[in-house]
Amino acid sequence: MHQIPFMKSIISFVIRYIPRSFLQRVSPLFLKAVALANKGDKVICTVCEKGFKKFLPYGRKARENALCPNCLALERHRLMWLYLQQKTNFFTAPLRVLHVAPEACFIDRFEKLPNIDYITGDIESPLAKVKMDIHQIPFEDASFDVVFCNHVMEHVDNDIAACKEINRVLKPKGWGIIQSPVYNIPTTFEDPSITAPAEREKAFGQRDHVRKYGDDYAIRLSKSGLMVSEDRFVQELPKEVVEKHALPITEIIYFCTKGSTTA
Ligand SMILES: [Zn+2]
Repeated sequence: MHQIPFMKSIISFVIRYIPRSFLQRVSPLFLKAVALANKGDKVICTVCEKGFKKFLPYGRKARENALCPNCLALERHRLMWLYLQQKTNFFTAPLRVLHVAPEACFIDRFEKLPNIDYITGDIESPLAKVKMDIHQIPFEDASFDVVFCNHVMEHVDNDIAACKEINRVLKPKGWGIIQSPVYNIPTTFEDPSITAPAEREKAFGQRDHVRKYGDDYAIRLSKSGLMVSEDRFVQELPKEVVEKHALPITEIIYFCTKGSTTA
């Protein structure tokens, strides 16, 4: 009976204190064993298509039924995969794709897609091929059809400048997805004088976050010139689908298209 809360606190501890890059390299071995033990058909991961009795708990305050033990996809990754399948040309059109801070669950699968010319970039992640600072993307103007940049903007010094760069490298008909944690507050809160990790955690929700986004997230990013729209895609899905894949019901997809580059 005590096994699950115990598991939850171990996972919370590991996630909190062990660097993510280390986790991404080492944990799959452990998780594969957990995946085998959890095999079932109650939930299905959209990313790896494997079925389980339940997904694993995940997060600082562990959320039940969240992490796919096979591919490490979380709720938001499973939603994005479905979105790409149902609402974009990602799996069919010939596309040059820049994936900033690539999520481990996507890399191998995106790399294998025959229609995609796939480039990964990050300032520190060993998973990315190109070492780059998002404030100065080392690619020419209008060189990508698609840019993905998830859970990056809440870490960077100047998010508007970073979005300007994404807008710059997008081709005229290019599009992108830029997800970040968005809180239920009317306006984004930032305060550059808060720099100590513990203080940042208190103010922004995590030790390495520099702001806390609110309802103005899309409007704020649009100041870069990018056109940012809010797609409440998950709410269009049947309840059975949401449950089958354990999707995040409040997540909004921030879908971007190239806008003016003179902003
Ligand atoms: Zn999976």
